[in-house]
Amino acid sequence: MLEDKNPSKTELRDLGEFSLIDYLTKDFKLKNDSSLLGVGDDSAIVKHGKNPSLISTDLLIEGIHFDLSYMPLKHLGYKAIIVNLSDVYAMNAYPKQILVSIAVSNRFSLEAIDEIYKGIQLACKNYNVDLIGGDTSTSVTGLILSVSVLGTVPKNKIVKRKGARENDLLVVSGDLGGAFAGLQVLEREKAVFNVNPSSQPDLSKYSYCIERQLKPEARKDIIDLFEELEIIPTSMIDISDGLSSEVLHLSKASEVGFHLFEDKIPIDPIVSITCEEFKLNPLTAALNGGEDYELLFTINQKNFNKIKDHPYLTIIGHATDIKNGCQIISGLGQQIELTAQGWESFSKK
Ligand code: ADP
Ligand code: MG
Repeated sequence: MLEDKNPSKTELRDLGEFSLIDYLTKDFKLKNDSSLLGVGDDSAIVKHGKNPSLISTDLLIEGIHFDLSYMPLKHLGYKAIIVNLSDVYAMNAYPKQILVSIAVSNRFSLEAIDEIYKGIQLACKNYNVDLIGGDTSTSVTGLILSVSVLGTVPKNKIVKRKGARENDLLVVSGDLGGAFAGLQVLEREKAVFNVNPSSQPDLSKYSYCIERQLKPEARKDIIDLFEELEIIPTSMIDISDGLSSEVLHLSKASEVGFHLFEDKIPIDPIVSITCEEFKLNPLTAALNGGEDYELLFTINQKNFNKIKDHPYLTIIGHATDIKNGCQIISGLGQQIELTAQGWESFSKK
C-alpha cells in the first residue's frame, strides 16, 4: 500500500472546487492573440476568423453527478448536453457544435448506450446543434460522459461575468429551487424502493420538480428575447450551483456588491409545497440547491421598462458598491451577508 509521508499534504476538501481551479490555473497566462478569454467564465472565447467562438466543457461522472437508479439513460444524455449549452447561452451566444466523449464499463449494453445517444440526439434537434466528434473508451466500473460545446456570437454581443456596474438591475429567468426539490423526491423514492421494491409510488404531483431535475432545459429563449428587446446584459452567468454562488461569482468578476431581495426570488408554488413536505426552506433550495440552469444577469436601469412585466423574468435586486458586499434583504428589511453553500465537488458535506 502506498503510504503518504508528506505532512504538508493538503486535503482537496479543505480547498473547495473554485479554489482548486484558481490554484491549478493561476500560472497559465494566455500567450496567443486568438485566446480572448481563458479560465474563469462560463465559456472561454477564442477568435480565429471574423467572429469569436465560445468553448465550454463539462464532465459527468456516475455516482457523483448522476445516479442511474433514478436517472433514465435518455434523460442523462439530454441533460449532459443541456448543461453545456447553458454555459454558451450564459455568454449571450449560440451553441453550434458538440463533442461527446464517453467511457463505459461492460456493465452497459449497446442498447443502454443507444438510449444515452437518443437523449443526445433529441437535445441536438431541440437546440439546433451538431454532434461533430468525441472519444470512446472503456472504464473500470461506472459511466463517464464528457461534453464540449462550441458556439458563436458577434463580438459586440458577448456578455461575461464581468461587466455589472453599480445600480444595474439583477434579473433572473424562470424560477428556482425546482431541481433541488425534485432531487429530494427522487432520493426519497430510491430509499423507499430499496426497502420495498414492489412499491408503486404516485409521483404525478411532483412532476414539475422531477422534470426540473431529470430533464432541464437551457434558456435559449431568453437569448432570443434579448435580441428581440435589443438588450445586452452587462454581465451574466447560468445557475448551476445555486443563486448564492452565482451572485458571488458576478460580484467577484464585476467588482460590485449586490442587494438581493428575499421576497422577490421566484419560486414556483409547487416547489414551495414540495420543500415544505421535506421540511426544507424553499428559499434555501433556491439559494443553494443548484441545477436550475436559469440565467442570472444584470442590465442597465434604462432597460427596466422593457422587462418589468415579462412573465419569464424577475428583478431580484441590484448592484451596489463593492464595499457593501453581497447582502440578502429579508421581507422585514434585515440584511444578511450572502454566503455560497452551493454544490462544490470537494466540499465537506
Ligand atoms: P461552470 O459551472 O460554468 O461549468 P466551472 O465552475 O466548472 O464553470 O468552471 C469555472 C471556470 O474554470 C471555467 O472557466 C472553466 O473552464 C475553468 N476550469 C474548470 N476546471 C478546470 C481545470 N481543471 N483546468 C482548467 N480550467 C478549469
Ligand atoms: Mg456556468
